[in-house]
Amino acid sequence: MKFDLHCHSHFSDGILSPEMLVSRAKEREVNVLALTDHDTIAGLFLAQQAADECGIILINGIEFSSQWGKGGVHIVGLGLKLESQSLKDAIDHQNHARVCRADQIASRLAKAGIAGALEGAQAIAGEAVVGRPHFAQYLVNIGAVNNINSAFKKYLGAGKSADVKYQWPDMPTVVNWIHAAGGVAVLAHPCKYDLTRTKMCALIKDFTQASGDALEVISGMQASAITDDLAGIAAVNNLASSCGSDFHSPNQPWQDLGNFSNLPARCKPVWQLLGFAA
Ligand SMILES: [Zn+2]
Ligand SMILES: [Zn+2]
Repeated sequence: MKFDLHCHSHFSDGILSPEMLVSRAKEREVNVLALTDHDTIAGLFLAQQAADECGIILINGIEFSSQWGKGGVHIVGLGLKLESQSLKDAIDHQNHARVCRADQIASRLAKAGIAGALEGAQAIAGEAVVGRPHFAQYLVNIGAVNNINSAFKKYLGAGKSADVKYQWPDMPTVVNWIHAAGGVAVLAHPCKYDLTRTKMCALIKDFTQASGDALEVISGMQASAITDDLAGIAAVNNLASSCGSDFHSPNQPWQDLGNFSNLPARCKPVWQLLGFAA
């Protein structure tokens, strides 16, 4: 059985519709797929329909943004009960944070002489919640900058005039949300936060103390030494292990659906906590 427990559709920052995502997963011989869009479950209904049609097992997932120290970290929730009021409240909370931030970015851009940024970014975002990539695209479209990179360099990046920081909820809060919705909490891609190994270990320890359940030991294609190291850290903290591609787009083959090694045999797979025997 191939489990891919982390990917994104166009309901957050992915390229594909949930239906296209599921059929790509099927083509790529994934048996169990979790759709984990950022702070939304809006794609899960369509994904479930597609999964039923093609015979893939879909796990209801989400990827919540959380705060650890000065930085953002991501916590994946797997096996969520979609009717959970706590889940709805959590999503509302995150949505509100994103909307407020988008408003603030737009008003800072207005001060810098860029009009209509909120409406422009919204039109680009479509079904997704407005974020910095949409503002960046808007700045390119109106000719304020030549490309996405310069949009960040000139306006949206750290320390620039339209740089607005999020203040996300802390890890205990997010883990609680996931547990209250009947789900399992997984600390996503621990190597992608630009931390030293010591800091990363401290993060994982804090996540464990926040009652987190599992560590994403594999995130897409990665060196086996990293997998072994993370498997060891998961074991020390008594965390289960998860694996996923973090697929966003077919143009990024190193994180294509199902395109990663199996979990080391010594890991306790997170799917045991989700009721799978394998
Ligand atoms: Zn993430
Ligand atoms: Zn992700």
